[in-house]
Amino acid sequence: MPGILVVCEHKNGKFRRVSLEVLSKAKALGAQMGQPVSAVVTGAGVAGAAAELGAYGASTVYVADDAALGTGLAAPHVDVIADLVGAQGITHVLVGASSLGRDIASALAVRLGAGLNADSTDLMVEGGSLRARRPVFGGQNFVDSEWTSAVAVALVRPNSFPVDNSAGGSANVETLTPSYTAHASAVSVTGSRPADAGKIGLEEASMIVSGGRGLGAPEHFAMVEALASQLGAAVGASRAAVDAGWYPHPNQVGQTGKTVSPNLYIACGISGAIQHKVGMQTSDVIVAINKDADAPIFSFADFGLVGDIFDVVPKLTALVAARKG
Ligand code: FAD
Repeated sequence: MPGILVVCEHKNGKFRRVSLEVLSKAKALGAQMGQPVSAVVTGAGVAGAAAELGAYGASTVYVADDAALGTGLAAPHVDVIADLVGAQGITHVLVGASSLGRDIASALAVRLGAGLNADSTDLMVEGGSLRARRPVFGGQNFVDSEWTSAVAVALVRPNSFPVDNSAGGSANVETLTPSYTAHASAVSVTGSRPADAGKIGLEEASMIVSGGRGLGAPEHFAMVEALASQLGAAVGASRAAVDAGWYPHPNQVGQTGKTVSPNLYIACGISGAIQHKVGMQTSDVIVAINKDADAPIFSFADFGLVGDIFDVVPKLTALVAARKG
């Protein structure tokens, strides 16, 4: 039966938020297209979690639970998902753009001879067909594309859609027995360790506090981290701060860093250069704190605070702590 399949990534005991966002959207698309929506969960120790995806709109959840799927490598997942797509006659595969999701979607598209619309920020139905929208030229324009292949693969940016678990249904869970190609074991993982244990990943964060050259020294990032910690936010940085060696490159926001789209983005001592702007301008609410009233960031911030970050940020942190208390 044709249908929409959402690849749901399960990590550290829970589903990735981007997977739930995409599944929530798939439910609405399936209703418009008259197609069933299913989910596939591939991993190690994931079987118990599958049924909860019914609440997000999956009528069937396919589960492959196997140690070979817990290494973080995409190839074994691609084997399982490609077999499932063929067996069920799936026509649309939607994947959240996590690191693993990107690898899975691109390899899956090659395996299936499917078109891949990557970097999608919206999905819509036009004349009964699915279209994907993605930003180009640093978000100055949008391109809409549809698929001409029999199977469509879409890779969707985090924070593109809200999570909706109002479906409240229970999913029919079907267990898959994985079989792997030789390709799946062509690479083996020798070890892994977290770079920032306990810290929130930038791309999926719903709130980000970023620091720029205005901080003046690496140790002043502690001030940004304190505010982020109170808010439950991730920490970002401008390229100037990263190039100065004050914060690691994985936290850089902008053209040559990450593209983020949180609900709240607080920029501390960041001027708002175009190369920074393109990485964060789709944030729902942008708050800028800068001592220069003419800083470019004030031209696109939703809330601007002209002041010294060394004065404002600690007060803001104390205020958040007090409100939480
Ligand atoms: P600055 O531009 O120096 O701004 C610092 C700001 O802090 C100023 O506005 C100042 O008024 C304010 N300030 C200083 N002290 C205080 C204080 N005590 N209190 C409050 N405010 C204070 N940049 C990125 O960020 N990400 C990218 O991915 C990126 N990619 C690039 C790619 C290319 C090809 C190029 C050419 C550039 C790229 N850049 C990128 C660099 C970009 O052009 C800017 O140089 C950079 O964003 C500036 O960082 P900044 O805002 O932290 O520093």
